[in-house]
Amino acid sequence: VEQLAATVGKKRIGIMGGTFNPPHLGHLVMADQVLTQLGLDRILFMPDATPPHVDHKLTIAAEDRVRMVADSIATNRNFGIELSEVQRGGVSYTYDTMLALKQRHPEIDYYFIIGGDMVAYLPKWYRIDELVKLVQFVGVKRTAYPVQTPYPVIWVDAPVLDISSTMIRNRVRQGQSIRYLVADPVADFIRKRGLYRD
Ligand code: ATP
Ligand code: MG
Repeated sequence: VEQLAATVGKKRIGIMGGTFNPPHLGHLVMADQVLTQLGLDRILFMPDATPPHVDHKLTIAAEDRVRMVADSIATNRNFGIELSEVQRGGVSYTYDTMLALKQRHPEIDYYFIIGGDMVAYLPKWYRIDELVKLVQFVGVKRTAYPVQTPYPVIWVDAPVLDISSTMIRNRVRQGQSIRYLVADPVADFIRKRGLYRD
């Protein structure tokens, strides 16, 4: 039966691209809502690489971000990590990454998940006209961002969590609690490693 399903139905996989500096509950909720509402097979979190020139106090090493993503998704068997951008290093265009993935896995339909704040910028993305033919964009509504776009986007209504990585970093710097805003192991890792402090 599984073999039949594999030949008949294409696999549908959601890609959650981001810096995840650090990953937070907003990322997890949006990924789960897209997974379940669209009935996808899996969601892969895809951290971007840290460009060499970046101030590591602001964007910490990819290795640490990957570790925190892995810790965040450990309890969900439908969540995984896609490491191709981290392994390639430098700045990756989503178009190049998704073209490579699609060539490696022609049998997979990719759903590229973005927050509502990103949708307005789609016209500026590298090779966007080709990218929208390569992947199906999924937009997740986020507070106070416009939702108009000339590109085909599936909109998913999810509980709006007013959490961002910027907010998490600011709270850490100010000595405020981030418990229940990030997964428990992420809060532990940030504290033990002294991340995001001045
Ligand atoms: P930063 O504050 O550093 O920009 P971020 O919270 O936006 O970080 P990213 O890693 O940049 O996190 O985001 C990855 C993706 O998740 C982006 O598409 C972003 O729009 C989306 N996203 C992040 N937080 C939320 C949220 N609370 N609700 C909906 N989408 C979100
Ligand atoms: Mg952001």
